[in-house]
Amino acid sequence: MPGRENRGIGRNLALGLAAALLALAGGVAPLGQTWAAGKPGVEEAPWSYSGERGPEHWSKLSAAYERCATGQLQSPIDIRSVQRVPYTPLVFKYRSQSLEAVNDGYGVHLLAPPGSELRVHGDAYFLTEVHFHVPGEHRVNGQAAAAEIHLIHRDAQGRQAIVAVPVRDGKRNNSTLTRIIDHLPLLPGERVLYRNLGINPVFLLPSERDYYSYTGSLGTPPCSEPVLWYVLAYPLELEAEQIRSLARATGANARPVQPLNGRPVYAALRH
Ligand code: ZN
Repeated sequence: MPGRENRGIGRNLALGLAAALLALAGGVAPLGQTWAAGKPGVEEAPWSYSGERGPEHWSKLSAAYERCATGQLQSPIDIRSVQRVPYTPLVFKYRSQSLEAVNDGYGVHLLAPPGSELRVHGDAYFLTEVHFHVPGEHRVNGQAAAAEIHLIHRDAQGRQAIVAVPVRDGKRNNSTLTRIIDHLPLLPGERVLYRNLGINPVFLLPSERDYYSYTGSLGTPPCSEPVLWYVLAYPLELEAEQIRSLARATGANARPVQPLNGRPVYAALRH
C-alpha cells in the first residue's frame, strides 16, 4: 500500500502532521483546501449532525456560525416547483489524479489538485474536493436519495459552485467509487495519498446531466452564502453494498432541508 498516512490522534494536529509529512515527501500541499469550517490556523467550534451540537444548534456554537440560522439562502432544499430554463450543459473538464483523501471527523473528502474544471455559462470553476453524504441532502418532492456526492468548485474570485449527484440503489458497480471506497481514511484525522492510484472524478457522474440550479449555501458550518448549486436531475446508480460502504465511512451526515424563502429553482432539462 503505497504512501498511506494513518494517524488517529487529535484532528488538527493530525492534519497538520500529515500535511507536513506529505510536503516533505513531495506530496501535494493542501494549499487553499477548505473542508468543513476551516480557515487555516483558526480553531473552529466542533459541531455534529446530531445531539447538542447538531444542525439546529449550529448557530449557537460560534459567532462564526450565525448564518446557519440567520441566512436566507441556506442549503440543502426540497425541490418542489421549478422554472424551466433553456438547457445549457454543465461541461466537466476533469482530469485523472492520484487518490488523496482526508477524514476530518465530519466526513471523508477527496482532494482534487488544480487542473480539473467545470464550465457553465462561460464561467470556469476549479474542482477542489469531492465528498459524500448518506443519506442524500437535497430532496425532490420530499424524497431524498440514498446518498449524494458533492463536487466542490471555486472560481478565481473565490465564488463557489457545487454539483450534487444523487445516488440510487441499483445494480451497477462503479469501479471508480470502489477504488475510492477501498482506500477511504476511516479514522478522524487520517489523511491518505496514493500516488499510483489514478481516479478521474468524471466517472462519479451519471451519463444524463440535466440539472436543477438555485442559489444556496455551504451545508456545513459556517453555512456561507452564496453558493451556486447544480443538483443533477438523474441519479448515479450504485450497488447497495457500495452505498453501505459509503455510509460506514461517513456516518449519517445529512443536514435537514432549509426554508426556500421564495428562492427560484431553475430546471435545465433536455426533454
Ligand atoms: Zn456536502
